[in-house]
Amino acid sequence: MVWQKTTYVTKNPEQTKKLGNLLARSVKRDRKSGQALVLALSGDLGAGKTNFIQGFARGLGIGETVNSPTFVIAKVYPVKKSKSGFKKFHHVDCYRLDDAADLAELDFEKVTADPDNIVAVEWPKIAGKFFGNNVLRLEFEVIGEEERRITINS
Ligand code: ADP
Ligand code: MG
Repeated sequence: MVWQKTTYVTKNPEQTKKLGNLLARSVKRDRKSGQALVLALSGDLGAGKTNFIQGFARGLGIGETVNSPTFVIAKVYPVKKSKSGFKKFHHVDCYRLDDAADLAELDFEKVTADPDNIVAVEWPKIAGKFFGNNVLRLEFEVIGEEERRITINS
């Protein structure tokens, strides 16, 4: 993957979505890895994680609107027409979870062990033990009313 450690500054939500969209166009399923690709998105509330994921889903070819799953923890969307090769996109928000056991209940271990899955996790700290080596870490920082710094680590 061409994304090493890269920092972007976006000036409005549309630019953040666009960046998500572009990243989605560069990800590829790696069947041999035996793992899902995980995007771990950290940063304060309102830093733009969900906006980024909305653009990301669009870039994967998902037509449905992706809303924050905060109250349901996880949502799954079929990936139909993507060159990425992934079959399912999981959007997980751990903000309201205080225990990794809640994720185990959702069979999260199976989700991250399936290379057909691409998994975006907001507030990923609690979920870290379920991630393999196939992780892109994204940090979101608020630097102004509409400015956000987004750092991607591969
Ligand atoms: P998070 O999921 O990190 O809590 P959201 O994406 O849900 O954040 O919300 C980000 C909020 O910040 C939205 O209200 C959005 O309109 C606003 N915003 C302002 N500037 C930006 C930007 N550059 N990128 C993303 N969101 C922005
Ligand atoms: Mg969010």
